[in-house]
Amino acid sequence: MEGFIDHALIYQILEETKAVTDEAIEAVLSKTFNRETLSYRDVAVLLQAKKPAHIERIYKRASEIKSEIYGNRVVMFAPLYVSNFCINNCSYCGYKRNNQFTRKKLTKAEIQEEVRILEKMGHKRIALEAGEDPVNCDIDYITDTIKTIYETVSEKSNIRRINVNIAATTVENYQKLKASEIGTYILFQETYEKSNYEKLHPHCPKGDYLYHLTAFDRAMQGGIDDVGAGVLFGFSDHRFEVLALMMHNKHLEDTFGVGFHTISVPRIKPAEGVDLSDYAHILDDETFKKIVAILRLAVPFTGIILSTRESEATRNELIHHGVTQLSAGSCTGVGGYKANELGNDVQQFAISDDRPTIDVIKGLIRDGFIPSFCTSCYRMGRTGDRFMKLAKTGEIQHVCQPNAMMTLKEYAIDYGDEELQTMADAFIASQLTHVKTDKTRNIIIKGLEDLSNGKRDIFL
Ligand code: SAM
Repeated sequence: MEGFIDHALIYQILEETKAVTDEAIEAVLSKTFNRETLSYRDVAVLLQAKKPAHIERIYKRASEIKSEIYGNRVVMFAPLYVSNFCINNCSYCGYKRNNQFTRKKLTKAEIQEEVRILEKMGHKRIALEAGEDPVNCDIDYITDTIKTIYETVSEKSNIRRINVNIAATTVENYQKLKASEIGTYILFQETYEKSNYEKLHPHCPKGDYLYHLTAFDRAMQGGIDDVGAGVLFGFSDHRFEVLALMMHNKHLEDTFGVGFHTISVPRIKPAEGVDLSDYAHILDDETFKKIVAILRLAVPFTGIILSTRESEATRNELIHHGVTQLSAGSCTGVGGYKANELGNDVQQFAISDDRPTIDVIKGLIRDGFIPSFCTSCYRMGRTGDRFMKLAKTGEIQHVCQPNAMMTLKEYAIDYGDEELQTMADAFIASQLTHVKTDKTRNIIIKGLEDLSNGKRDIFL
């Protein structure tokens, strides 16, 4: 047992579920029809599936669940890297301390500049990213940055939700993040396999497996309700990682009454000073897709986040199988959004989908998805178990659907070209016909009119 991740139990379950039968797969899938919680063993059965027919069944069920719970909405965001100072030596990361380049953190004016560029792209929700450095990038720098971002009101709008992805820290620091009104606190475990974890993080604070693993406990003790987990796939057996994610989630549910708000599914990408051939578990596309679909079935109410590390084609496919949030127009360098930025900047890792945000939005609409710029839940106090209760009863639909349509309309008016405006109007009109009650439809129609008349930031 390593903390609450029972390594021996995971290996035992994987051993016992090796032979997958049609009956075993169907028995697990049948549980998903009445939203029964899947056991570790159930999840393992799905993870062990190899036959194309079994995998097709998993995809089909995952797509159905995705559509039943989330409809056709996809939440949009972009990362904002504010500091690449880092005292860690994560073997896979371009920001590792052993990489020699001129480090920087953004000044207040530079943060405002980045925020204005993000705002011009139409973003309302960002993921704030920074390396770990208690001297050059302490918690006060992070909370000051959050304040600056919220206060930067550009020509048309402002950033309305900031999720934060910074290193594991103390309860006191999490209290400060909470007081800064962050959305979700995001931290990837990278790998749950302890010996691999330690090899990947040599001689640095992040190498303390248990301290990293228990970060969400401290975050929740510090008052943060929404936490976002992730594994950086490529380091250990993916089946181990998914079962460990389930154990982590259960630990939080048992201890704090609520599990992960989101799960991110990054795959290791090329980066400065990183040799991908060092990693034994690089995932092929098919296995990756299977993981996303299984997560959708295992934790149906937890958002799944996919970044621009993945290609346009993979992203387009995975939104059908379970992904609920996409980044767009991303840059993974500090100060990277600033137009014509020159100099010695190092990207944390390479991205694959480099389409401008507006092209991602048009692509989603063409494929029948509503890109949503909604940031309402945490502003309305729908966080933690309050959010989960609304999600589980399906009530959340009544706010998500209107918010998605209204924020898309706002995006189209403020940032769309003629093509997007026409597309968005026609698409929203068609989506209105799917709204279940007249009351909700009327609320949306009124909101759309108000937006056309110049009102902004309308949300339920
Ligand atoms: N410094 C914080 C920490 O230590 O958790 C988090 C910020 S870091 C900017 C965000 C994430 O980027 C890491 O948790 C890691 O999973 C991911 N990352 C690092 N190198 C990567 C690579 N080469 N390819 C893909 N993702 C990578």
